[in-house]
Amino acid sequence: MDIHQTRTWVRSIAAAMDQHKDHLTQLDSAIGDADHGVNMQRGFTAVVAALDGYEPAGVGDVLVKTGTTLISKVGGAAGPLYGTFFRATGKQLTGPVADAEQLAAAFDAGLAGVQKLGAAVLGDKTMVDALAPALEAFGAAARAGEDEATAAEKAAAAAETGAKDTIPLQARKGRASYLGSRSIGHQDPGATSAALIFRTLAEVLK
Ligand code: ADP
Ligand code: MG
Ligand code: MG
Repeated sequence: MDIHQTRTWVRSIAAAMDQHKDHLTQLDSAIGDADHGVNMQRGFTAVVAALDGYEPAGVGDVLVKTGTTLISKVGGAAGPLYGTFFRATGKQLTGPVADAEQLAAAFDAGLAGVQKLGAAVLGDKTMVDALAPALEAFGAAARAGEDEATAAEKAAAAAETGAKDTIPLQARKGRASYLGSRSIGHQDPGATSAALIFRTLAEVLK
């Protein structure tokens, strides 16, 4: 993935968040405060503006800029968590191009940042339930010598399954956890946006 593709990925995430804003907000209205779509759309609109005219030296610069913008512009849980994901991922990628193995290691650092900040583990019904299987699939593909397009396609599929698999879970982190067992039966909004982020990556690298 080169700098141009990285910028295209981030712009495509912004477009996906525009397109899916109402769905994400609808999911968040069931088990949260009905703002996840708006938070993500606002955040990535700010990211696109911040990247406009920005001259990155490497792939990582684009992602670090994305992360810092999300942290500064998005309130709520998801802004700082996604901000940390992109920033921690970007910090690992110093070159003008990143291959599948470099991306896999960087994404793992991104997820570690999310888990350090939010303390969610697999099964807590959060974005981690989409991110963790996505990165496991991405890493396995990279280690098997697949290119980043194939790895991203496998990651997207795993993230989508992970997001769906949050439906029967009871939330143990974030706002949805206040509902206790009433959070069961609804798909987690943050896991859903994480799946969109990886689906977008697969489309950009295809
Ligand atoms: P808020 O809950 O503050 O309104 P959002 O609605 O934008 O923020 O984001 C909610 C999403 O954030 C949840 O669906 C969940 O996936 C994610 N989330 C919340 N708390 C955590 C956490 N501690 N770790 C990981 N993800 C979390
Ligand atoms: Mg919310
Ligand atoms: Mg909120």
